Amino acid sequence: MSLHADVIVVGAGPAGSRTAARLAAAGYDVIVLERRLELGHPVCCTGIISVPCLEKFGVTPDLVFRQYRGACVHSPGGATVNFDRPSVQAVAIDRARFDKVMAESAVSAGARLLLGAAVTDIEIMESQALVRFTHGGSPRTASARCVIIAAGVSPRLTGKLGMGTISHAALGLQTEVATIRPVGVELFIDRTYAPGYFAWMAPISDTKAKIGLIARRREKTGLQLLIDKLRSEGRLGDELDKVSCRPIPLSTLPRTYSNRVIAVGDSAGQVKPTTGGGLYYGLLCADIASDTICTALAAGDVTAGSLKKYEQGWRAAIGRDLFLGRLGRSLFQRMPDPIIDRLISKARDSGAVERLMRDDDFSFDWHGKALLKAAGALLTSIF
Ligand SMILES: Cc1cc2nc3c(=O)[nH]c(=O)nc-3n(C[C@H](O)[C@H](O)[C@H](O)COP(=O)(O)OP(=O)(O)OC[C@H]3O[C@@H](n4cnc5c(N)ncnc54)[C@H](O)[C@@H]3O)c2cc1C
Repeated sequence: MSLHADVIVVGAGPAGSRTAARLAAAGYDVIVLERRLELGHPVCCTGIISVPCLEKFGVTPDLVFRQYRGACVHSPGGATVNFDRPSVQAVAIDRARFDKVMAESAVSAGARLLLGAAVTDIEIMESQALVRFTHGGSPRTASARCVIIAAGVSPRLTGKLGMGTISHAALGLQTEVATIRPVGVELFIDRTYAPGYFAWMAPISDTKAKIGLIARRREKTGLQLLIDKLRSEGRLGDELDKVSCRPIPLSTLPRTYSNRVIAVGDSAGQVKPTTGGGLYYGLLCADIASDTICTALAAGDVTAGSLKKYEQGWRAAIGRDLFLGRLGRSLFQRMPDPIIDRLISKARDSGAVERLMRDDDFSFDWHGKALLKAAGALLTSIF
C-alpha cells in the first residue's frame, strides 16, 4: 500500500467511516487508519438511534435489534412517568455490525482501510500532513493533503494541532444482562446510581438488555447497585458481559479545524449533552466535513481559512441544540433529588407529559425547543 493519499482518516468509527466513504465516492484517494484489529469490538455503546437517523443514513433492518416507542423515566423517589408515542421513535442497532458495515461501505467506495494502525502523531507541514502510526509493532508514516481526526475523544492529537481539548467529559459505563421481563427503555434519574447524570436499561431482545450509566468517575458501584436493585425485583438474570467504559464528550473542541486537519464526531464533541448520544450528530457532521473537504481539495486550499466553513456549517446545524442541551444539563445537575421528584410527578399529573408527546417540537434528536418549552412551563408553574 502506497502511504500517500489525498485524505487520511484517523479512526474507523461511524463518523470516520462515513466521512471516508463520501470522500472516496467523490473520487479522492482516502486511507483510513484504525487502531483496532477487529472493527466495532469491544462494544461500549447502547446503539440507540432515532427513526430519522436510521432513514437518513440507510441503516438496514437487519442491523436493528429492537424498536422503541418511548421511554419510562423513574424518579429518585420512585415516581414513574411514561414518555410514549403511538409510533416507533427509536431503535437499538447492533453497534459492532454497524461499524463493520460503515467501514465496508468506505472500502467499497474505494477507501483503503488499515486495521491495527494506531496513530501516535500528526505533523502539519507546508505542503502536506504527516501521520505517524504503529502497525504490527513497527513505526510507520503516511502522508496526505489533509487529515480527519475521527478517533473519539483524542486530546493528545487535537491539543497538539492547536484545536484545544474537550473541557467537559464524563464516562459511559455499560454491560449486558439477561432480562426476565423486558419492557421498553427505562431511565433512572437517581443520585444513588448516577450522580448528576442518569442510568438506563434498554432491552435488545426478549432475553437481553444493555444497562449502563453516565458517571463522573470510573467506578462501578452505581451500576452494581442498579443491577442489584433490579435483580432483587426479579427482573434480571445473570450479567452476560463485563463492564466496558469510555469517555463521553459533553462539550465541543474550542476549534474543530486547523491547517490541513479537521475533527469530527466524538473527537469534536458532537454529542447530545442531554443524553450523551453521539451517533446521529457525528454522522450529520461527517457529511458537513466531507462536503467541506471536497470543496477545499478541489480548490487546492486546505488551509484553516478554507476549512473554517466546516465549523460554521456544523455549528449552524447542531450548535443551538448543543448550547441549550448543555444549559439544561447543568440546571438538572444542580437540582436536589426532592425537586426532581416533584417536577416529574407534576409533569405527569398536570398532563404536561401527554401534551409534550403530542407536540411536534419534541423529538428524540433535537432537544432545544422542548427544553425551552419545559423551562417556560416550569416558570409558569412557579410564579
Ligand atoms: C456506554 C455508552 C453508551 C452509548 N450509547 C449511545 C446510544 O445509545 N446512542 C448514541 O447515539 N450514542 C451512544 N453513545 C455515544 C456513541 O457511542 C459515540 O458518540 C459514537 O461512537 C461516536 O462515534 P465516532 O465515530 O465519533 O467515534 P468512535 O465510535 O469512538 O470511533 C473512533 C474510532 O477511532 C479508533 N481510534 C481511536 N484512537 C485511534 C488512534 N490513535 N489511531 C487509530 N484509530 C483510533 C477507535 O478504535 C474507534 O474505532 C454511547 C456511549 C457510551 C460510552
